[in-house]
Amino acid sequence: MDWLSERQLSGAVLDALTASICVVDQNGMIVAVNQAWRRFSSDNGGRGAFLGENYLDVCRRAKGPGAKAAQRFGQNVADVLFGRRERFETEYPCHSPKVRRWFLARVTRLHPADTIADPDAERVAVVTHQDITTRKLLEFDLKKLAETDELTGLKNRRRFLAAANKALERLKRFDAPASLFIIDLDNFKTINDTHGHAVGDGALCHAAERFKRAIRRRDLLARIGGEEFAVLLPDEDECGAMMVAERLRTLIAASPLSDKSGPIGLTVSVGVTSLRKGDQSADDALGRADRALYRAKDEGRNRVRASTMGLAPPTVP
Ligand code: GH3
Ligand code: MG
Ligand code: MG
Repeated sequence: MDWLSERQLSGAVLDALTASICVVDQNGMIVAVNQAWRRFSSDNGGRGAFLGENYLDVCRRAKGPGAKAAQRFGQNVADVLFGRRERFETEYPCHSPKVRRWFLARVTRLHPADTIADPDAERVAVVTHQDITTRKLLEFDLKKLAETDELTGLKNRRRFLAAANKALERLKRFDAPASLFIIDLDNFKTINDTHGHAVGDGALCHAAERFKRAIRRRDLLARIGGEEFAVLLPDEDECGAMMVAERLRTLIAASPLSDKSGPIGLTVSVGVTSLRKGDQSADDALGRADRALYRAKDEGRNRVRASTMGLAPPTVP
């Protein structure tokens, strides 16, 4: 290693790192960059920040979809340079028409060894951008897995509850109505017992497909239990939700499952309710829908019941 001076060694190490690294002086001027930074700036169609440019200006002048985030990032670089914070980091998307990429950006104050005790020493910061696309894609896969029902590919109970709780928040804050209903397959145990569990699974997928095709894009369909599905309908009151539920009920009754033993008829019972401002959480609404559902079962199955149906009108004092 005799042939390398300390300075050459530091430069070689910086160039060997895969993260893009630059050093900015107290005015925001880029005074040093590593190989990865140079490569990234030119690969980016010359839209990057180059040695000798002012990084704060580059962030300020950013255009396109990431402009606001770049401007905020520039503010944070300035905050570190002016001593308002010691470090800053953020994750951000940086997509091109061809590739989707995400980066982790870090800004850290640099304290050269001989200036640590000097409060008037020039403030310098190191900015690094590291490609975290592989980790991000894995995170998205895990999130999807955690929200998806394995058998039908629909959203699962956890995802449904999260969406219903969000809808409840919107109702409380913005008066935006929303409703939900639970669909339960009738006498499903008999289908399993008569035709076997695999045919039962097929019936669940068959029903899921039919429901999916019959609802609007903004409605959320989930499988929330064994043979129970739920639909969340934003901007819909109980009456509107009942009409959708009735459509699904007649559709499934008219779409028997084709099996090698012949067509297998399916019917469903449905319990409908709208979200209410007094609900503590979406569980309250699901409880109401469940009680309406059991009324539908009690009254003979293959029908839709709503939580307010059959209630006495409010008495006027
Ligand atoms: P009801 O009309 O009162 O709803 O009667 P039911 O037979 O549908 O209701 P019950 O709750 O008695 O039975 C539900 C059945 O659903 C029992 C269970 O074995 C079956 N089941 C739950 N999950 C699955 C699944 O993933 N696959 C299959 N094939 N069956 C399932
Ligand atoms: Mg059930
Ligand atoms: Mg059932």
